[in-house]
Amino acid sequence: MMSLHIVVCIKQVPVSNNLKIDPVTKNVIRSDAQGMMNPFDKNAIEAALDLKERHDGEVTLLSMGPKNFEITLREGLAMGADRAILLSSRAFGGADTLATGYVLSEAIKKIGNVDLIFFGRQSIDADTGQVGPIVAEFLDMPQATYIHEINPVQNGKILATRLMENMEQVIEVEIPAVITVRSELNEPRYPTLRNIQKSYQKEVEVWDENQLAADPNRIGIKGSPTIVRKVWTPENQKKVAESLGNHPDAAVQKLLEILRDKNIL
Ligand SMILES: Cc1cc2nc3c(=O)[nH]c(=O)nc-3n(C[C@H](O)[C@H](O)[C@H](O)COP(=O)(O)OP(=O)(O)OC[C@H]3O[C@@H](n4cnc5c(N)ncnc54)[C@H](O)[C@@H]3O)c2cc1C
Repeated sequence: MMSLHIVVCIKQVPVSNNLKIDPVTKNVIRSDAQGMMNPFDKNAIEAALDLKERHDGEVTLLSMGPKNFEITLREGLAMGADRAILLSSRAFGGADTLATGYVLSEAIKKIGNVDLIFFGRQSIDADTGQVGPIVAEFLDMPQATYIHEINPVQNGKILATRLMENMEQVIEVEIPAVITVRSELNEPRYPTLRNIQKSYQKEVEVWDENQLAADPNRIGIKGSPTIVRKVWTPENQKKVAESLGNHPDAAVQKLLEILRDKNIL
């Protein structure tokens, strides 16, 4: 079987899904939010490691974010990935999905000779699910999204099953290709003690805009046509239930009155 070079894009997200929003700036307060790897990205790493074990090859982790994303990349190394690259610079900050996809695709071009690129199906903080497909477009590669079953590469093609709400699609794509994965695909492995130790012997490479051949107008805020104007936590509106009593006939009468009052009957 051919040896594969697989890149897995991973994002760090706040631990709590009860995000705190700054009332003035309307931004997510990330400083006191502990970070963790986006859960779907663990499935993506597991899928890459599984294919690497069947085919031989190399798994490279790639993330764009602040310096503290390094801890998440180390966790991926501890799962068994070979290399980790963090794209970190003030110039990348404030990126929307388009600018994120652009920077990731420029980094993948620089990495070179990549056969497969794995993503989680979506992040759990912004939830758009757009970054994988955007990278596929920038790199002009075929894409298979929402994958929950995957086969080894054969004759330069990979067969995967896509799970949508009420439908499954079996798709064959030629590699190099982009794949976004669902959590049903696999059970991510826990880092072993040996791999945790090994992960601290590996360097997390940090690249900024100077290492990429990226157009400065297409990165960070400058390259982001989407602006999140407002984010808020919806108020929990508790509705009060009213008991219509224990006597069925009286309860039916009362119910009919209520429905007539509301012009429902
Ligand atoms: C509450 C909130 C709402 C937002 N809404 C929007 C919006 O509507 N439109 C918009 O353009 N931007 C939005 N953003 C900005 C958006 O979070 C960033 O652009 C982000 O870089 C990528 O979008 P995502 O988290 O939706 O990723 P998704 O597309 O949901 O992520 C899918 C996969 O892409 C990979 N990935 C995502 N981000 C990175 C990264 N930085 N590095 C490496 N791999 C990555 C991971 O594998 C991930 O599983 C929002 C941000 C927040 C906090």
